[in-house]
Amino acid sequence: MTSTQLLEMLLSCSLQIMILTGACMVLERAFPRPGDRYSLWKAYFLCVPLLVAAGLMLPKLRIFQPWQYADADTLLSAADVETLAAKVLIAIWCIGAVVMLVRWIVHLFVLQLELFHCECVSSGDLQQLLDRKLDLEFRKYQPRLLISDDAQGPYCLQMHRPVIVIPRKLFRLERDQVRHILVHEIAHLQNNHPLQHFIQQAVQVICWFHPSVSKASSHASLVREYCCDDEVIRCGIPYSTYLRTLLRIAEYAGCRKALPSITFGKTPSELKLRAKRLVESAGHDQAVPNRSFRKGRLAVATLLLIACALTQLSLPTDPLASSRTHWSSWPKWSAQALHCLGIPARDYEVFDRRIRPFEQLHETGEYANACG
Ligand SMILES: [Zn+2]
Repeated sequence: MTSTQLLEMLLSCSLQIMILTGACMVLERAFPRPGDRYSLWKAYFLCVPLLVAAGLMLPKLRIFQPWQYADADTLLSAADVETLAAKVLIAIWCIGAVVMLVRWIVHLFVLQLELFHCECVSSGDLQQLLDRKLDLEFRKYQPRLLISDDAQGPYCLQMHRPVIVIPRKLFRLERDQVRHILVHEIAHLQNNHPLQHFIQQAVQVICWFHPSVSKASSHASLVREYCCDDEVIRCGIPYSTYLRTLLRIAEYAGCRKALPSITFGKTPSELKLRAKRLVESAGHDQAVPNRSFRKGRLAVATLLLIACALTQLSLPTDPLASSRTHWSSWPKWSAQALHCLGIPARDYEVFDRRIRPFEQLHETGEYANACG
């Protein structure tokens, strides 16, 4: 892939991700249940790396070819500028991605250190704390329940074994309130949220420069919390009682630093939004909607269709692209893979990119005039 092709791919992918984020937000309005909304965001964080992979590995449809009207000098000048721009942007992206990756690894390391200093709740204390239903869930997922002196709020992790961490101060709340926290954290484990959070973080490292991805990430985190709040209410815990628990957590969380885990309330403003939503639901005496797998699948299928269509959306910025075909060539690596499987794939432009400006001269008749 040449520098001008790489720049075209980078700009096209950025546009595709922006449109995909917008589509996801519009679809959220059509499917307002938190479960369906979260299914959409789950699919979104899988679609983003797929769009990047498609940009690197698939040919593109070129409907508009604005460069066919440019003269040879303009093509060469634009190619020089774009080559320089591509090199600068790739260097900035690499630096940003490395910084984000190092930051993520450091946070995970800090989290591991924090776990190392946590106190494990004894089985006797646990038995006193859990009611029958919670006891069944604990037997199913077998999480380690840890008490921390440093945690920002309650959170869960899943590495080789699930872990639920509760700050010591919150562990001293009334027993019912601690149970609410545990029901909420178990709901995260039931729905496989730690893995989805990991994928979300990885996408943020790749697309660190894109504001749509950051916005989507905070949106997905909030919807994930809504889902688990609904699970708590679905367990028969009254809105007012659960709101009191949220309030105690908000008091504790204050302005402590967030870690890259599924924290009960990453920020006080997030807790405020969740509390506001619960107050509205309680005010309207709304029953928490049950999960609708059919609607969730429909929402995800619609988003996947949009993502498939977006793979062919490209910004025609490459001045050296052939104007004699509506399809770009296959990138070298995917073409080679297809050749190995015996599938013919065009992995070169219709004419050599190095002589593209001279071809342009022929097309416009300037070459003949210069020779004649
Ligand atoms: Zn949570």
